[in-house]
Amino acid sequence: MAMKRNGKSPVSSDTDEKFMFFKDVSLGPHETQLRFRLIHFWEARNPVKKTIIGLEMLLIDEQGTVIQGFIPPGRIKKYLPDLKQGSVYRLNNFYGSKNKPMYRVADHIATVSFTWNSELSVLHEIPTCFDEDRFRFHSYEDFEANCDIKGDLYDVVGHMKLVNGHTLIERPTPDEVKIDTTRHIMVHVQSHDGPVMKLYLWDQAAADFCKKFNSYDNTPTLLLVTAVNTKRLGGTLALTSMSPSRIISTGSAQTRRLLIKQVSADVVTKPWYYIGCSGCHAKATKGATSLVCTNTKCEKINTAGVPQYRAKISVYDNSDQAVFVLLGDAGRVLTGRHASELVSSYFEANGSEGADHLVPVPEALISTIGQTHKFCVKVTQHNFSGDTRAITVTKILSLDTPSPTEASVGNDIAAMSEGATQSGDAVCEPHKGGGVTADEESKRACSSADPETAKRPRCEN
Ligand SMILES: [Zn+2]
Repeated sequence: MAMKRNGKSPVSSDTDEKFMFFKDVSLGPHETQLRFRLIHFWEARNPVKKTIIGLEMLLIDEQGTVIQGFIPPGRIKKYLPDLKQGSVYRLNNFYGSKNKPMYRVADHIATVSFTWNSELSVLHEIPTCFDEDRFRFHSYEDFEANCDIKGDLYDVVGHMKLVNGHTLIERPTPDEVKIDTTRHIMVHVQSHDGPVMKLYLWDQAAADFCKKFNSYDNTPTLLLVTAVNTKRLGGTLALTSMSPSRIISTGSAQTRRLLIKQVSADVVTKPWYYIGCSGCHAKATKGATSLVCTNTKCEKINTAGVPQYRAKISVYDNSDQAVFVLLGDAGRVLTGRHASELVSSYFEANGSEGADHLVPVPEALISTIGQTHKFCVKVTQHNFSGDTRAITVTKILSLDTPSPTEASVGNDIAAMSEGATQSGDAVCEPHKGGGVTADEESKRACSSADPETAKRPRCEN
């Protein structure tokens, strides 16, 4: 049934009604219907006079397009009783006003503004699937570029390193009562593989954070905050929560999955392993009919491929952050499992995948996020001169092992360097025959993983 000219919805089933998708919303008046889920709504206040400017909303339609909504102060009373975060609505008649350039939370050019004849009603029988949420994650570079210009508000997901200056090893308990006076909480958070950033959560966001953080049985380590603004404070980039901010922590299984998907790919870069020669662990490439070892001293034809660790991990101590490369034994010590075990148990559980399928970062590796270890590393001249920051881990010691003397570190490195460089060589060798290292990600990983020593094994003692 077509919609009546006056814009009022006809008496018909939902599926017959005409409606507009957000992507088609233009500026100006519209006598048509929108259907959306209300992701979030908040009061916008004049920061000086504290008067209400209106009610702002974040809406998502069934195509996953997000648009901002706005209810002017005089009309809030009429609609507020029906507003419930997460509910699905239909809206008849609205005005497409221009999205404001400051503190934007959606990319759309228009804002759906409620007008004198707007009719909002809850859709009880939801005809189709509406996404729960949509995030706008950005890299550290985007945060930098957007710093101090009051442009877009981005969402941030990352690993919490410190909460009000306390590490998460001994769980801090941020105090909601204290926050009433300090009004804020500071979290050091690391997003993607960028540096650690200071995130200031103010007022409601600070209170929400405390409530969420203290509600978990295990110390939460991941944090997702929406709508943060970037500012330069004392020379360093800081993120600040704004009024539309929401704290979405590691609560539901669904949020956790989303967080892991976002974070693990960056913290433990893909691919996390390569297929090595069964004899010498160098990279094995696909020959015409079999796997061939790339190590010129080995040249094993028909080698059996054995998955080996080669994972970049992001590590953090009290003052700095670095990227380490885990190879062979170090990977096994960290996770307790050999890479080949993890790969085969993945294929056992997902039998239908082809052998060329890249095994996702396993839980055994993801679960090491947040742990504390003592790493012995191999630092070469290249780590200081080149643009690489990836440092090879030679050994992982238990925490109670006394710090090794310089001499013993030298010996450790000497003992490990050949194996490490061989693996490095193997993985970094340019290689066009397909296989795990053929993609862009790996090339980048290789270019930053010490090509000097990869070509020319050497010992440093
Ligand atoms: Zn070999």
